[in-house]
Amino acid sequence: QFHTIKYEDLKWDESLGQGSFTRIFKGEKTDYRDGEKHTTEVLLKELDPDHKNCWESFFEAASFMSQISHKHLLHVYGVSVHGDKNIMVQEFVKHGALDLYLKREKSLSVSWKLNVAKQLACVLNFLEEQSIIHGNICAKNLLLVREEDPSQGISPFIKLSDPGINVAMLGKDVIMHRIPWIAPESLAAPDNLTHECDKWSFGATVWEIFNNGNPPLQGWSLEEVKLKFYENKQQLPPSQWTELADLIGQCMSYDLAFRPSCRSIIRQLNSLVTSDYEILHATESVTQ
Ligand code: ATP
Ligand code: MG
Repeated sequence: QFHTIKYEDLKWDESLGQGSFTRIFKGEKTDYRDGEKHTTEVLLKELDPDHKNCWESFFEAASFMSQISHKHLLHVYGVSVHGDKNIMVQEFVKHGALDLYLKREKSLSVSWKLNVAKQLACVLNFLEEQSIIHGNICAKNLLLVREEDPSQGISPFIKLSDPGINVAMLGKDVIMHRIPWIAPESLAAPDNLTHECDKWSFGATVWEIFNNGNPPLQGWSLEEVKLKFYENKQQLPPSQWTELADLIGQCMSYDLAFRPSCRSIIRQLNSLVTSDYEILHATESVTQ
């Protein structure tokens, strides 16, 4: 069903920290093609031994990621099993996770953000066409392959990473930490993910992108409070760019029927004109 990689062909380099249920390392994979040795930089995601009962779900994510291919979808080479170690071997992305990048680079332009949002919409549309539900879309799971270089006419380029363990397998406390990315209906029915759930997460992710990777519910520390966010059908603070706020609002609509189709999302993103935003901000600073 998916490619298995010999543990002996993997080399482990520095640790890059931890994921939800994983330990993450940079490494290398060795292949022998036509009697020649090739090495490739890889990212190794080892499932936490405390969660080894989730290996099927973890490998399911690896499986779908390695079976389909799209320019904005992270490439998964395969999996490796060694004793009780379960490892996902994936493409190493140089500039890392988008949430951290956004926080670091504070002065990214509106057109940069819009471009990245369009790339995410493009892969969202592809997944829907393939009838695949991702289930864990957020800025942390977008990886920056290429930085912008305006002097060379180079745009930023992102890829969507794997969703990890399915939400249906996660405990209530873990799910709570996924507010506001996780669709509100998933709290009650985590085993019933739909394309509409991904639309909600898309909205929250676009919000993050335009808010420089700041956590959407900063200050809402208590989990009870977080729960109230959905109970009271609250919304994230709207962008002053009304057309963008409108799109995010549609995606993060509590009524599933109001969430837009991918086609509509793409159309709305294409109709956003960056200069409108800049004019808005120019007039704001004049009136202040
Ligand atoms: P989750 O399932 O919740 O997404 P995870 O196991 O995927 O958890 P993350 O928190 O998404 O772990 O990723 C942890 C960090 O590892 C990221 O912040 C990023 O810096 C780095 N990282 C993840 N994937 C890659 C990759 N393919 N290339 C380079 N760095 C990566
Ligand atoms: Mg991840």
